[in-house]
Amino acid sequence: MKAPVIIIGAGLAGWTTARELRKLDSDVPITLITADSGDFYAKPSLSNAYAQGRSPAQLVSTEASKMAQTLAVTLLPHTRVSRIDAAARTVGLEGGSALGYSQLVLATGALPIRVPLAGNATQRVLSINSLQDFEAFHAALQAVTPGGGPKPRVLIMGAGLIGCEFANDLASAGYRVSLVDPGASPLAALLPAEASAALQAALEKLGVEFHFGTTVASVNAGASAEAAMDVSLANGQTLTAHGVLSAVGLRADTALAQSAGLKTERAILVDRLLQTSAEGIYALGDGVQYASAASGLSAHGAALPYVMPIMNAARALAATLAGTPTAVHFPLMPVSIKTPALPLVAALPQPGSSGLWHAVQDGIWHWLDEAGQPRGFVLAGAQTAQRMAQSKLVVL
Ligand SMILES: Cc1cc2nc3c(=O)[nH]c(=O)nc-3n(C[C@H](O)[C@H](O)[C@H](O)COP(=O)(O)OP(=O)(O)OC[C@H]3O[C@@H](n4cnc5c(N)ncnc54)[C@H](O)[C@@H]3O)c2cc1C
Repeated sequence: MKAPVIIIGAGLAGWTTARELRKLDSDVPITLITADSGDFYAKPSLSNAYAQGRSPAQLVSTEASKMAQTLAVTLLPHTRVSRIDAAARTVGLEGGSALGYSQLVLATGALPIRVPLAGNATQRVLSINSLQDFEAFHAALQAVTPGGGPKPRVLIMGAGLIGCEFANDLASAGYRVSLVDPGASPLAALLPAEASAALQAALEKLGVEFHFGTTVASVNAGASAEAAMDVSLANGQTLTAHGVLSAVGLRADTALAQSAGLKTERAILVDRLLQTSAEGIYALGDGVQYASAASGLSAHGAALPYVMPIMNAARALAATLAGTPTAVHFPLMPVSIKTPALPLVAALPQPGSSGLWHAVQDGIWHWLDEAGQPRGFVLAGAQTAQRMAQSKLVVL
């Protein structure tokens, strides 16, 4: 019997690749191996679940067994791949067994960055990059939520996209929120200064307290109340919090790729066909650096840890796996930032490109390159409705 296409990972990248491949080839055997349950959920929904009153269980859109049945996929849930032998075309599973593959897809995502912290309660600092993480966070907050009285205070480390979305979501649901970031304003790396200031004002109106220009130094069990923690900041201040969420970024876990001798840098390197440095091994999703048109398989590729790049990559990869080599093409991919206090849409310029933000109208900014060409935009508030019209103006 022909060895299957093996996909490692059951996030958006893994399941979408399986679905797109099945559309093109109803016969090819597909095996999906994943360390988690394999249940399908939209990860972006994790950061607006509180305001919508949705529990972790309600976020599962399709159970793993149903996904496997619909797509005629052999699913190995709760199974971790621990090594890859590119020459023998096998993957080794934790526990010792090995499976052969015809083509292999790494859709293994990324892991939250953990910054070293002092203190005796650092195990209570949680990150959210999966449904299981969200379950753990949800349970931890439930455990410290008293019946009646004010809702607990959550301290969020990092005022980037994920930190701001959770700050908005938790504050809308009545939690008290403190946001700590070494920068000077929220989403400072992505937004023009005026948009960042407007976001800060909108979140402050919801009750979010910002602590900029500093970081969390230590987390200790509180002296006053059992459930509270004392969180010391590098600027000498001490805050009280009942939950601490670390949202300081993701990094690809490249250990598995390295076990196969694949080229990696910050993440797994792939070419325009999404092939890694080993023939027949492909990769996509949050664990990948995509090659630019010019660079080929290069360490200068960009990480694109968003939904739209995954959808585009999965379609191209499925065609390649089905026998028609197809280079991935990324159109302009604006990202909606889920901060209902001030909704934002950002279509960012290519990483490293030089230019400056210019206010075009109230709530619209363009990133203009040296020739004055718009290479990206940010829309705020009611102007987010201009997403399509603004996308047409951008020069790719
Ligand atoms: C809170 C939050 C909100 C977001 N909101 C948005 C948004 O609004 N818009 C947007 O565009 N993007 C958003 N994103 C980003 C987007 O959700 C991700 O880019 C995307 O879900 C990543 O999917 P993935 O399949 O690459 O990785 P993952 O979802 O991380 O999946 C990785 C899979 O690999 C498995 N795995 C890893 N290692 C192994 C191994 N060795 N063996 C077996 N299995 C393994 C894991 O168990 C998992 O199933 C958000 C992200 C977060 C965290």
